[in-house]
Amino acid sequence: MTNHIVGSHALTKHMESNILKTSQEAKAAKAKNPSVIDATVGQLNRDNGTLFRYVAVERSLNELNDQEMYVYAPVNGTKNFSEGAIDWVFGRNKDAILKNFQVNVIPTTGGSGALSNTIYNFNDFGQKVLIPNYYWTPYENIAEEANLGVETFRMYDDDYNFNLSDFERKAKELATRQGRLFFLMNDPCNNPTGLCLSTDQWRAMIGVLNEIAAKDIPVILLHDIAYIDFQMKPEEQSRDIFTSYLDLDPRILAVVAFSGSKTFSMYGFRIGAQIGLSKSKSVMDEFRRVGDYSVRARFSSVSRPAMSVIGRIFATPDLRTCFRAELAEAREVLRSRIALFQHHADLEGLRYLPYGGGFFIGVETKNCRIFEDLVADGVYVIAMPGLIRIALSSVNLEEIPRLVKILKKNV
Ligand code: PLP
Repeated sequence: MTNHIVGSHALTKHMESNILKTSQEAKAAKAKNPSVIDATVGQLNRDNGTLFRYVAVERSLNELNDQEMYVYAPVNGTKNFSEGAIDWVFGRNKDAILKNFQVNVIPTTGGSGALSNTIYNFNDFGQKVLIPNYYWTPYENIAEEANLGVETFRMYDDDYNFNLSDFERKAKELATRQGRLFFLMNDPCNNPTGLCLSTDQWRAMIGVLNEIAAKDIPVILLHDIAYIDFQMKPEEQSRDIFTSYLDLDPRILAVVAFSGSKTFSMYGFRIGAQIGLSKSKSVMDEFRRVGDYSVRARFSSVSRPAMSVIGRIFATPDLRTCFRAELAEAREVLRSRIALFQHHADLEGLRYLPYGGGFFIGVETKNCRIFEDLVADGVYVIAMPGLIRIALSSVNLEEIPRLVKILKKNV
């Protein structure tokens, strides 16, 4: 018994790093002083500062009938949305995935809903979720909200390659210690680093997961693909990492967290999905049972207009083709900003982490006051231990040379 107004499990809740709050502060500072550079926002903007909106999305939204706009969304999604999501996510690997796996789609409130449902249902309270040491900070809060913690492995080795051996060491240690391994990886286009893993690196990680599963330890892979459509490699290769899934041990549950926010610029609509995959029917029965329950118990159902719009784009070949062309344009916007940033960083001698795609580039720092120092120079970024995240998704080309100089001065 305590005399606190909040329950005892909520006493320790404190938002240490609130990305949305920092973004709001940056926006307010820029409104007062337009020379402020706001590199906090994980949202793709055009160079004039307006949101990168897709015509295919706008057009679909405007054409929705009452049924598609206003009624409750089905808990398991419309056919267009759920089948379309599998098609979109796995691309040319779809047939192989459907042949080898039981697959089930559960629509959620954004990728965040997919992450929180999965983290909540597939761990015992008090356990730890394994993530790399550079991570999107809400992972910590989502884990804490589920009475869990996080444990990290070093993302890079000394040569800035993905640190497979530290992953292996930590994964095996954690699996042995708690009799379960729940591994959460944001790839491709990692937030906050910009890392994109190769298919071979995925194969190697899955090899480690299989070794653990072979000891009859429950293994869950939660694969956060929020930025999958912003890889810099050719589009037809953008789903190749999923060929590594074919090696997964039948006991493993993989959950792909799909987000409609970045791909469709539908951030505020709150649409995403848990896409569960396993070679084992009993594992998938469990996934479906607890997933459906949690949707009803936590948020009941998701945004119907967003489901309708995305479902329409997935299912209408002309619209889909137009949308793909618009996405290619969005990637070009990012590509030109990244190229300019890298050019100036190389000139100034500013080191940055290897970038394969996405909204962010990462710069390591030993400056513990980096956030305050950059703000004093009119630059807002998201700072985390040892790293700053620079959202080139929302910085315009003109600002980049000055941004690089200010970063170089302070890191
Ligand atoms: N995962 C990562 C790495 C993200 O950066 C985000 C959003 O910023 C999400 C998941 C979830 O996005 P949403 O809940 O808007 O779909």
